[in-house]
Order: sequence, then structure tokens, then C-alpha cells
Amino acid sequence: QCPWGAPKAAPMSCSLADVMSEQLAKELQLEEESAAFPEVAAVAEGPFITGENIDTSSDLMLAQMLQMEFDREYDAQLRREEKKFNGDSKVSISFENYRKVHPFDSDSSEDEVDWQDTRHDPYRADKPTTTPKKGFIGKGKDITTKHDEVVCGRKNTARMENFAPEFQVGDGIGMDLKLSNQVFNALKQHAYSEERRSARLHEKKEHSTAEKAVDPKTRLLLYKMVNSGMLETITGCISTGKESVVFHAYGGKYVLYFTTEEDKVIPPECAIKVFKTTLNEFKNRDKYIKDDYRFKDRFSKLNPRKIIRMWAEKEMHNLTRMQNAGIPCPQVVILKKHVLVMSFIGQDQAPAPKLKDVKLSSEDMKKAYYQVLNMMQQLYKECNLVHADLSEYNMLWHEGKVWLIDVSQSVEPTHPHGLEFLFRDCRNVSQFFQKGGVTEALNERELFNAVSNLNITAENEVDFQAEIEALEKMNEDHVQKHGKKVSTFPSDGDPPIWGE
Ligand code: ADP
Ligand code: MN
Repeated sequence: QCPWGAPKAAPMSCSLADVMSEQLAKELQLEEESAAFPEVAAVAEGPFITGENIDTSSDLMLAQMLQMEFDREYDAQLRREEKKFNGDSKVSISFENYRKVHPFDSDSSEDEVDWQDTRHDPYRADKPTTTPKKGFIGKGKDITTKHDEVVCGRKNTARMENFAPEFQVGDGIGMDLKLSNQVFNALKQHAYSEERRSARLHEKKEHSTAEKAVDPKTRLLLYKMVNSGMLETITGCISTGKESVVFHAYGGKYVLYFTTEEDKVIPPECAIKVFKTTLNEFKNRDKYIKDDYRFKDRFSKLNPRKIIRMWAEKEMHNLTRMQNAGIPCPQVVILKKHVLVMSFIGQDQAPAPKLKDVKLSSEDMKKAYYQVLNMMQQLYKECNLVHADLSEYNMLWHEGKVWLIDVSQSVEPTHPHGLEFLFRDCRNVSQFFQKGGVTEALNERELFNAVSNLNITAENEVDFQAEIEALEKMNEDHVQKHGKKVSTFPSDGDPPIWGE
């Protein structure tokens, strides 16, 4: 007998590196998703959802969900058999390879924990979050049962027997199920890709995903929003930026399971901002969120995908604050993972023009300037925020006034770089309006003081900047010593130390 005990023999089917590889897991998932939703991927122009395929995609999704459910049950049964088979034996045989749901691609509940946990502004620690209704409740439209469809559906069900023998189709064959061609084909596809996937677990292969407007996961999210009736149709793409893609949609009905909040009316037109999940572009924005203490505890533990969700979350919270202060901005409709739905600024699918693109009369220009000055002050004092990307690109002209958008990067003034961001905003704003012929427009330093009430007296740009950085450092040192920020909401007392 070996003094160290019998070795536990768990046969490894593939290398640990393979199993641990995020890349591989993602690849497999993408492949599976595109195989499972073939007609979605086939829509060449992108993820637009038209009225015609709503019904089938809903069936499809139901079928997909049932399959997942079945796979999970199958695995549970497998585990029981494995246990029974091995009994008390010191040497055990692993059934791992026969599992349907692979540990790295199951949409784990951990992954599902998203905005629902933080829909209250984390800055304001108020009453605990109510537990929202969980997840997606598929609500398939009534299946139209024309006679030949019934027959055809039954045939399809029977044909499932022709899938590869390892592919478990459940006991559906014995039942009077009617599968539409679309659903049948999707399941068949799924069966094939499942086969191939099992084979491919052992060999890693280069896999290039064609750049589409949005990834399959996002497409599914958008589908759910349309299927649920919350959105009527998604008409098209308004903007493709480095960090986000924005779509226009017509609003639908309020749907209960999307949120447990009080009755909400979906605006007639919505903008859907999809934060890009390609990570590289976000790397350089780390500094905004990493140092935002509202997100400090969470940042270190998060994977990049979750960080991107946090951008969406941040935009939601910031918009809500602005809304509460009465600043013209999009109204939040719903946040789902990295997809933010808000009211559309514009009309009949035409987004309101950016300030940089609109030709204003000198009177309107002056009006716009004073409005922007006002909004910057409100943002700072009432919302405790600095926009941090304020320029003529992120201000829309609509209904005779300026609307602020794009606030995912906005931070609180006590953010370690908050005042620098504010100064940059001021520079953009004052340059734009001065060039636009507004003679009353304050210069950037005057504007900075007018917004922040800080009274920095430096005469030139360089000294001014230096004073700003000194103030930021002062606050950081205070944080180091006392472990907390000095400034909170004005209503909470405690002004920033530099406000004294
Ligand atoms: P990005 O980070 O890509 O700049 P933005 O939030 O600025 O994201 O959105 C990009 C563009 O999409 C905007 O310049 C604007 O034209 C349009 N857009 C965004 N949100 C809305 C909205 N709520 N209503 C109308 N247009 C919008
Ligand atoms: Mn923008």
C-alpha cells in the first residue's frame, strides 16, 4: 500500500489550459449561438427585428430553452449514475465527458447577476433592493394550427429520431408535438454543432468571427425586448461609435416582468445604446471607472465583460440623476446587461442634430450657451457630477433647447481626476460658443469657477491646471487618511474640502 493513499484517477480529456481558456469558451459559445439562431445571423443588414419573424423566433427560443432545461436534467441524471457507478470505490470513473452542459458555457447564475442588483444608484445607500422577477419568461404567441402545419409539425418531431444517436431529444418523440420547420431546422443545426463541438473540445482551432453590428448574445437580448412587446420594432442603427452602437426603436407596451417598478410608459420612440463588448476600446477608459469610488469595491473582482456592463449601469444612474434635476436628457427605460434603452431625442426616426451640426441663429446660439452654463452648474451642484465628455458632439438640439447625452463616463467631482475632466469640459464649451459668436461666453477658467465655485485665481492655463491638480491631490490625501471621500451630495452636508 502506498503510504500517501491511492491516487485519485480522474482521466483528463483535454489539457487544463484548454478548459481554462476564456477564449475557447467564448468561441464555442459564439459558434453555438450562431448555429442555434441561423436565420438571425442570416439577416445581412444587422440585428433588425422585423414583425414577420417574431413568432417563430419566440418558438425557437422556447425550444432552445427547453433543450437547455433538458440538458441540465440529463446532466443531473448523469451525475447520479456516476455516483452509483463509482460507489465507495477508491478509483472512480468520471462521466464528465458525457455532460451536455459544459461548465464554461453555461450561462451561469453568477453571470446573470447584473443591473438588477444595482438598479439603485450605488451612491445613495437607501432601502434594500427588492428582489426582481427573475430572468426571461418566454411568452410564445399562440401557435397557429392550420391543418398541414400540424401534420408537418408531427413529421418534424418524428424526424428528430434521425439525429445522431448520442443526441438526446428527450421524450418528445412519443408525444404529439408539432415542430415548425424553423424550429426543427434550428434543433437539427444544434444537434450537428453539438456533435462537432464535442469533437472540437480536443483541438483548438483559429476561429474568426465576422464583424457584425452586434454579437449574438446582444441580438438575443434585443430579440427578447421585441418579443416581450416592450419594443415594437427596432428600425435601424443611428450611430456606430468606438464604444457603443445606438439603435432606434419604436416603443411597445410596458411589460411587467422587465421590472417590478411602478407602471412605466414606454416612450413612443426609443434609443437603444449597446455598449460594445469588444474590450480593447474600453481599456483606455479604465481611469474613469477604476477611480470612481462608487464602483471601487466591485472593480477589482470583475471580469472585463462585467466592467462593460458597469459602463451601461453608470450611464443609467447618471441619466437618472440628471432627470431628477430636470436637465434635458434621455429618460431611462430599461437596462439589461450592457444594453441601455432610453427615450429617443428626435422625431420620426431622425435623431436630433448635434450642436456641432446644427446652424443656429445668433439668438439661439446665445440661448443655448446660457442653457449649457446652467446645466453644467446643475450637473455639478445638484447631480454631483462632471460630464467628462462634454462637447458639441454630445449635446443635441431638440425642441429649441440643448439636451445632454452620453454620460457613461461622467464622474463625481471628487473623482481623482474629476476637476481635470471638468476643466476639459469647460474648455470645449467655451471654445465652441466663443467661436460660435457668443461674445458673452466666459472663457474656460471663468467657466470652471462659475460651475465649481472654486475661485481659482491663476492667470494662465498652466498655473490653473496646476492648482486643479493640487486640489485633487489634497482630496486624495484626505481619502488616504480618513478612508472616505469628503464630498457627498450637497443635501448630505459635507461639502468638498476645497469648497471651504
Ligand atoms: P458614443 O459613446 O458612441 O459617443 P453616444 O451616447 O454619444 O455614444 O451616442 C452616439 C450617438 O447616437 C449620438 O451622437 C447621437 O447622435 C445618437 N444618440 C444617442 N443617444 C440618443 C438618444 N437618446 N436619442 C437620439 N439620439 C441618440
Ligand atoms: Mn458621444
